[in-house]
Amino acid sequence: MKKSFLLLLMICLPMSLLAQTKGMTKADLKRKKLMNAENVISPVDTLTYSIDRFADLEILRYNVPDFSLLTLEQKTLIYYLSQAALEGRDILYDQNCAYNLQIRQLLEAVYTNYAGDRTSTDFLQMEIYLKRVWFSNGIHHHYAGDKFVPEFSKAFFDGAVRSLDVSLLPLKSGQSVDEMLAELDEVIFNPDILRKRTNQDAGQDLVLTSAGNYYDGVTQKEAEDFYNKMKNPADQTPVSYGLNSRLVKDQTGIHEEVYHIGGRYSKAIERIVYWLEKALPFAETKEQSAVISKLIDYYRTGNLKTFDDYCILWVQDVRSRVDFVNGFTETYGDPLGMKASWEANVNFKNLRATERTEKISGAAQWFEDHSPVDARFKKKSVKGVTAKVITAAILGGDCYPSTPIGINLPNSNWIRAQHGSKSVTIENITDAYDKAAQGTGYNEEFMWSSYEIDLMKQYGTMTDNLHTDLHECLGHASGQLLPGVDPDALKEHGSALEEARADLFGLYYCADPKMVELGILPNMEAYKAQYYSYMMNGALTQLRRIELGNNIEEAHMRNRALVANWVLDHANGAVELRRRDGKTYIVVNDYERLRALFGELLAEIQRIKSTGDYAEGARLIERYGVKIDLGLHQEILARFNKLGIAPYKGFVNPVYTPAFDRQGNITDVHVGYLEGYAEQHLRYSRDYSPLTK
Ligand code: ZN
Repeated sequence: MKKSFLLLLMICLPMSLLAQTKGMTKADLKRKKLMNAENVISPVDTLTYSIDRFADLEILRYNVPDFSLLTLEQKTLIYYLSQAALEGRDILYDQNCAYNLQIRQLLEAVYTNYAGDRTSTDFLQMEIYLKRVWFSNGIHHHYAGDKFVPEFSKAFFDGAVRSLDVSLLPLKSGQSVDEMLAELDEVIFNPDILRKRTNQDAGQDLVLTSAGNYYDGVTQKEAEDFYNKMKNPADQTPVSYGLNSRLVKDQTGIHEEVYHIGGRYSKAIERIVYWLEKALPFAETKEQSAVISKLIDYYRTGNLKTFDDYCILWVQDVRSRVDFVNGFTETYGDPLGMKASWEANVNFKNLRATERTEKISGAAQWFEDHSPVDARFKKKSVKGVTAKVITAAILGGDCYPSTPIGINLPNSNWIRAQHGSKSVTIENITDAYDKAAQGTGYNEEFMWSSYEIDLMKQYGTMTDNLHTDLHECLGHASGQLLPGVDPDALKEHGSALEEARADLFGLYYCADPKMVELGILPNMEAYKAQYYSYMMNGALTQLRRIELGNNIEEAHMRNRALVANWVLDHANGAVELRRRDGKTYIVVNDYERLRALFGELLAEIQRIKSTGDYAEGARLIERYGVKIDLGLHQEILARFNKLGIAPYKGFVNPVYTPAFDRQGNITDVHVGYLEGYAEQHLRYSRDYSPLTK
């Protein structure tokens, strides 16, 4: 529920990077040769940010500044936690679709071993398909959720598979090559089956029509009944029902396959726990040690009460510089919004930048008290809103290769209310986006005049970071439900409305004189950069990420469309869409009025959330957040096409290499930035693939 993606994900460098060996740029190869060493620390200024470009994707590197300044204990802790972060990759593939792991293995077998013509169109198209599978952790688009359309032929694929030695093929036990191909060809090439990973089209059985692997053999009604029976409305501290399991119907009835050691995904979870146990002695504080121990306990038992205990300990650990997320966390992949995908992130605090967010969270109560929402829906005391800026050291599971730029956890409402939450902005990731974005012509193409272009130059990055901080530190943490309101009352629209609430809270306060007073923004002009780019993205440029003819599906995109289109509909000329030379632009005529509109919508969405007004929430989403004007959509796609900008970006991780003494103790950890995209994924499949061994 709490991820914010960079508004300008769609910016990138012009690409001369298509002809690469295993994702390495020429510069990478050259550097590797020159330095001829395994553990080179690449200096920041020579780091190549953009390393691969295919389909609608661009692959970037991110830098891990200040890693070398950490203590040996901190580096060792990060190393072991990063190993734990990589071991869950297979879990996510399997959660996204039951066929994903076998398909990945089969594609990798062909990609690695095929002895035929590796320059044929079929082979190259298969390579792109495989790179997309790696990017999405499966055969469905990571963002839109649609199944990929393969652009290589079935005849080529079957021939290539059959040309390999049978020992190289990922056959299930007792399965013949013919049987495997019959099954997987259907999954890959038949567009009519498993079409969407997470279906959210109201009126259909969302469980049966979703390709995700969170349910097997149950209908939406059966799943809802199963969990409704568990819920006790009087329970003030409910666990997150269904969070860490697959719901299955068999001869014995409907039951959960819980993810834990000895249960579903045991082999992967055993590896995660193995590394967590290695990390434990290097915990920085006793609070952190308790966090890791409790997480291990939870992975052993799968007990959701233990998970809540772990979340509470995690929120309370604010003294450690190193921190991490590792587990079943976000529920975007489940059409019913209960079951969580596995994700990981290891990070350490960016001390300089954290001063900014500490100012904001230090004033949390002031922001809550002065927000434009009804007093009944405000928190009387906002607890424990901690905020920090972090440097990501590794991304894993559902945070890799595509990653959020901010995280706010835990998700459980009562834990947030009673114990607070941790909110982070991942600045080395936003920095990589910015570095890769320079000089693409994006602002010039889509902004109305040089006024907005200059605004963006001066204040764009600053206010983007600030908006993310506000969204994460204050937005999600603000507000309260009226007594007795079911936190899941907004059902399939809950995620999008929650994101809208957090975005609007951030937008409203970007323009508050308090920001200048706190010394966070330099003047009352800066916020306009965020206002303009938000409106432009929500109404226009984010459409780039959607295929012509499709609706908006993803929760954050629905939220942004809802905000921008609602404002346009209520603006009376304060903000408008204007056309010039056949192109559509956002024009803001009155920024103060725009702020008031953000405030009005914030108040309304907070009311919807606090009262559980599903009908009105659904109406807003459906009216403003889903449908796209076809002509406008065509225009936006054409303009982006001309710029050659990839709509989505993801990352390769750095490589951590420990040095050991004779007793096997780590004496140092080196961070390297030379690994290519394909190289990294093949290594992960080889070294961190417990579910396929
Ligand atoms: Zn969010």
